[in-house]
Amino acid sequence: MSVDNFETNAIRTQIERSQFLEHSNPLYLTSSFVFEDAEDMRASFAEDKDRNLYSRFSNPNTSEFVDKICKMEGAESGYAFATGMAAIFSTFAALLNSGDHIVSARSVFGSSHSLFTKYLPKWNISTSYFKVSEVETIESLIQPNTKILYAESPTNPAVDILDLVLLRNIAKKHNLLLIIDNCFATPYLQQPIKFGADLVIHSATKLIDGQGRVLGGVTVGRADLIQDIYLFSRNTGPALSPFNAWVLSKSLETLHVRVDRHCENALKLAEFLEKHDKVNLVKYPFLKSHPQYNVAKKQMKLGGNIIAFEIKGGIDAGRRFLNHIKLASLSANLGDTRTIVTHPASTTHSKLAEEDRLAVGITDGLVRISVGLEHTDDIIYDLDQALLA
Ligand SMILES: *Cc1c(COP(=O)(O)O)cnc(C)c1O
Repeated sequence: MSVDNFETNAIRTQIERSQFLEHSNPLYLTSSFVFEDAEDMRASFAEDKDRNLYSRFSNPNTSEFVDKICKMEGAESGYAFATGMAAIFSTFAALLNSGDHIVSARSVFGSSHSLFTKYLPKWNISTSYFKVSEVETIESLIQPNTKILYAESPTNPAVDILDLVLLRNIAKKHNLLLIIDNCFATPYLQQPIKFGADLVIHSATKLIDGQGRVLGGVTVGRADLIQDIYLFSRNTGPALSPFNAWVLSKSLETLHVRVDRHCENALKLAEFLEKHDKVNLVKYPFLKSHPQYNVAKKQMKLGGNIIAFEIKGGIDAGRRFLNHIKLASLSANLGDTRTIVTHPASTTHSKLAEEDRLAVGITDGLVRISVGLEHTDDIIYDLDQALLA
């Protein structure tokens, strides 16, 4: 019997044991590694040997974390970063040149959007956006200098789904790299490389840690691309710390159990909200009413832990709802054991003009819930009493 199941790989990826024969993988808090002698030192630098030199380049704990994510995603290679944004920035900076162009979904994580609109233009890299409801416009945005097609699925915060096979077909036809931010799905629910993505990026801060403790990020995929990303990162310094890598590797051992329960809680809550008098619209990928339900079913194992819903009564109702929440947290994070509620229109996206907010599906009454691991009845009770307040 070959051992190649997701759960087993998540737990049984072993790094070398020390003389103490520890059972749990040890933590290597060291910034550098020693050489046997002058010849070993010369050869290690000259030959780009597969050994640890300095923890900005690699460390046993970061390698363990990357190896696990690669196995889960079906990727050839990867590199781990201090945050999800460091992964996204370094990936684009390593692969693009001045004059290049990106085509991206408009609904992407706020800081990714800022990177594309405020910072990459400093290096003469431009971006065109498509609405997630208008994928038929993607091809018309492609220019001779377009290099990357970029998207998240599910998207933040409106929980839309993009068809990965459709994106792959466009990317192949126009010779673009397809890069997917797989943060909301986790490697457990969706493996974009199986659908043709060249690279997959995660903010490990979210469900991969899953307990709201550490920041981290990772990019995995084609080995030739990862080599460029590695060389860029080894020189520019966005590396994940060994301590955070150790925490995240431990977290991966329970990812499947946690995410199963997150999804079970989220589906029950989504079904409850769909019947609620004070709620207009509920978006959850595994509700039949979701506009891309069939695509979600095709590419995801379960629906994830994020629900978007529209509260009746607009901005004021949204604020009132937040003020009456008792159990859940009002916080900017997501993918935690603790249920988190946000109202983008009055908080994270309040600086956007109304038409820009509406373009990414953020109506005045939109609430985003990151469903946690508390008892389902308690989560439902809390949201119900806040909706009725
Ligand atoms: C949080 C998040 C990021 C950024 O990750 P950090 O670890 O906070 O830097 C990127 N993409 C998505 C979809 C996210 O939710």
